[in-house]
Amino acid sequence: MPALFIGHGSPMNAVENNSVTAAWKKQIESFPKPKAILVISAHWYVKATAVTSSEHPKTIHDFYGFPPELFAIQYPAPGSQELVKSIKEHLSPEITVLSDNEQWGIDHGAWSVLVHLYPEADIPVVQLSIDSSKPIEYHYELGKKLNYLREQGVLILGSGNVVHNLRMIIWNENALPHPWAIEFNSYIKDAIVNDKLGNVLNYKTHSAAKYAVPTEDHFLPLIYILGCKNESDKIEVFAEEFSLGALSMTSYKFS
Ligand code: ZN
Repeated sequence: MPALFIGHGSPMNAVENNSVTAAWKKQIESFPKPKAILVISAHWYVKATAVTSSEHPKTIHDFYGFPPELFAIQYPAPGSQELVKSIKEHLSPEITVLSDNEQWGIDHGAWSVLVHLYPEADIPVVQLSIDSSKPIEYHYELGKKLNYLREQGVLILGSGNVVHNLRMIIWNENALPHPWAIEFNSYIKDAIVNDKLGNVLNYKTHSAAKYAVPTEDHFLPLIYILGCKNESDKIEVFAEEFSLGALSMTSYKFS
C-alpha cells in the first residue's frame, strides 16, 4: 500500500467536486482497495498518542459556521479491533487506547477526504491522534513504526495541510496565494522530492514558517507519512493548488 498525505483544506471539499477532489480520487485508482485505513488527522491534536477503538466510530462534525449539508454527512465506516491491537503492540508504550466512553471518532480531516476516496464507507477506519506535547522527531519515529502496516494492506493516510493559516485566509475563491505560502510550500516540496528530510524536520528555520505553520496540527500528519516512506518509494505530487490564499492543497503519495 502507498502512504498518502492529503491536503484537506476547507471542510466544504466534502460536498464539492472540484479539481482538488478529482485529483484525490484519481490517486486511488492506482492501487488495490485497502484492507483498512489508518488516518492521522490534523483535527485530533491532543496530549496523547491514542487510537480510536470503537466498533462503530461516530462521524464528528468538528467545525462551526458551515451549512447544514455538511453537518448532515455521516461516514459510517466500521472500526477495526484487529488493527487497533496490532498498532498497540507495535507502538507500545506510546499508545493509549481510548475506552468507549471517551471515544473520538472519524473527524472531518478524515471524512471530508474519505467521502471522495471511498464513498461506500465499507473499509474499516482507525484514527491515530497527534500528541501536541511532543517534538517533531517523535512523530517521525512513530511514522517509521507504522510503516509495517503498508505490507499488510493498510492504507496510511495523513490529512492536514503543508500551509495552513486561518488568520490569513482571503475569503475569495479566486484569491491568489500569499507569497510566503508559495515560498514555504515550494521549500517543503523541494525537500521531499530531493530527499532532504532535515529541511522538513527543521522547517522552523525557514523565514516563512511562522506564517505557513502558525500551529503544528496541520503540518504534522505529513511527518508521519514521511516516517512511513520506504527508500525505494516513488514520490508523486498532486493537487498542487492553493485555497483561499493561505492553504496549500499540495498532496503526496509514496508508493
Ligand atoms: Zn483542517
